[in-house]
Amino acid sequence: MTRPARALIDLDALRHNYALARRLHGGQVMAVLKANGYGHGSIACARALQGLADGYAVAFMQEASLLRMAGIDGPILVLEGAFSDDDAQEAARHDCALVVHSDVQIEMLQRLRDTRPLQVWLKVDSGMHRAGFTPAQVEWAHARLRALPAVGEIGFMTHFARADEPASDMTTAQVACFDAAVGALPGPRSLCNSAGIVGWSPARRDWGRAGIMLYGSDPGGMLPREGEDALRAVMTLQSEIFAVRTLPAGEPVGYGARDVTRRDTRVGLIAMGYADGYPRNAPAGTPVAVDGQLAPLFGRVSMDMMTVDLTDLPQAGVGSKVELWGAQVPVDRVAEAAGMISYELLCNVKRVAFSYVS
Ligand code: PLP
Repeated sequence: MTRPARALIDLDALRHNYALARRLHGGQVMAVLKANGYGHGSIACARALQGLADGYAVAFMQEASLLRMAGIDGPILVLEGAFSDDDAQEAARHDCALVVHSDVQIEMLQRLRDTRPLQVWLKVDSGMHRAGFTPAQVEWAHARLRALPAVGEIGFMTHFARADEPASDMTTAQVACFDAAVGALPGPRSLCNSAGIVGWSPARRDWGRAGIMLYGSDPGGMLPREGEDALRAVMTLQSEIFAVRTLPAGEPVGYGARDVTRRDTRVGLIAMGYADGYPRNAPAGTPVAVDGQLAPLFGRVSMDMMTVDLTDLPQAGVGSKVELWGAQVPVDRVAEAAGMISYELLCNVKRVAFSYVS
């Protein structure tokens, strides 16, 4: 028997989420497929979105080359820009656009010879202070880029630090900072990540950059849970119960004896562990769906297996289907329980069998 741990990827849900992102944002939207499509498989996701997505974004050049070699056409933006002259060359060869956030990168583009002009996006540091030109440097950087034969169209972008916090006024300040820095310089604008697309309509401009929402997670919890404007889970992380034991009250379960039974307890063993990407620090009580009903995780998650309290689900037993996250157990709920974010959980999934449905 093959191990039942698997990630089921619903490409129709991905398309639904992309269409929602586009409807909310207006204008055009890049599908952010970095980190192997947030753990879902970047090539499969890009293929599923062909004909629908206006373009794609990845973190670095190798991720973009992978998509091109898989036959993905259409605009691809490399969000971290070039790390080397080779990257810049490769971007030109694969007709990819580059974010430019530092003078070192401008120098790389200056050294680029005999290529067709690259589209670049000048990144403005509007307050996150991670990467980008300061507002005072924007005109200077733009003038330098415009003078380079290797550079074609120049767009302007920035990235939000707190758009997932509806009560924070930092996003409004970042938008104002960006607008003041860019002024009337010609070229497309791109400000919104998922949380910006969902929650900050004044920030919606020519291009949105939708990442986590494509995969069904709503970073600010601002969208309805049901209906056409609800996101759909793309990944279902699933497995099965492969052993059951009954313990009396007062018995520990698992490493560290973290959780101790308080009653006669039926403990189910699930073929899924932290080596598959399920968070080891998920506490007792983290929801797990067993045959469609919620049951609490009990006992510390091990490398290859984890345990669940089945006492209140007498029908459940060996062979019962388990969903660790998906439509029944939102990945955000597991992330919150574990003190993590959905991005980490989705990107960390490995070792399990992937299957795709469209
Ligand atoms: N734009 C940039 C520059 C990013 O780094 C990311 C991801 O971190 C995104 C867009 C997509 O963000 P999100 O997944 O929150 O939509």
